[in-house]
Amino acid sequence: MLDALKVILEIQELDMKMIQLMLLKRQRQKELDNINATKGSLHQRVLGKEAEILEMKKLIRLAEGDHTEILAKIKKLESQQNAIKKVDEYNAITHEISAADRERVAKEQRLSDFYDKLALEEDLLKTLNESLNSTAENSKVLEGEIHESIRQINEEGRVLKTQRDELVEQADPDVFKVYERLLRNKKDRVVVPLENRCCSGCHIMLTAQHENLVRKGERLVFCEHCSRIHYWLESKALEDTVVATKQRRRRTTKV
Ligand SMILES: [Zn+2]
Repeated sequence: MLDALKVILEIQELDMKMIQLMLLKRQRQKELDNINATKGSLHQRVLGKEAEILEMKKLIRLAEGDHTEILAKIKKLESQQNAIKKVDEYNAITHEISAADRERVAKEQRLSDFYDKLALEEDLLKTLNESLNSTAENSKVLEGEIHESIRQINEEGRVLKTQRDELVEQADPDVFKVYERLLRNKKDRVVVPLENRCCSGCHIMLTAQHENLVRKGERLVFCEHCSRIHYWLESKALEDTVVATKQRRRRTTKV
């Protein structure tokens, strides 16, 4: 294997861990966002309901004013009627009073409907507030866990970064530059073994001539299909890598 690739392979393993870590972090942040969105939407509904109730109270005050006016009107008509001697005038006022009284009944019915509606809306607001409070209370533990998990991820990331920085210092700068450019494009392993003449990145077969170049390990050899860098593994080393990969996988799934 090209010597320069040995350090790059170590860097690559750290980068794979880092990518996993960042995925995990994004997932946990999404969970936080979901919790906040749920709380936010409940909060919006509480605010909306409060505004509705305020509007309804204004309507009730107006309707109460109307009702007071009609009561005063009836009272005035009644006292006018008491002073009247002529039958036809008396009858006219009686007519007016009964019209005003019908109005009064209608206004009282309207007010009563308003009061019912207000009581209903206030009950709804109470339920919404309870739901908001219990959601906030229940998610507190979960949010704490997520924050702690993100803190651990950041800590782990810092350790990886330190290890990586040390390795980068040892790496051949030109090879490292190529590696980084490929990694940015693929976000996956970009230095891969050629196994049975097959690229273990894109799984496409390559020529014997290509295999010879890789086996010689004199310069960087790229997969003509996926642009990954190929390296040669002796069969013993290949087995070790397979075992190491499996162990790594097992370790990752435990986390
Ligand atoms: Zn390939």
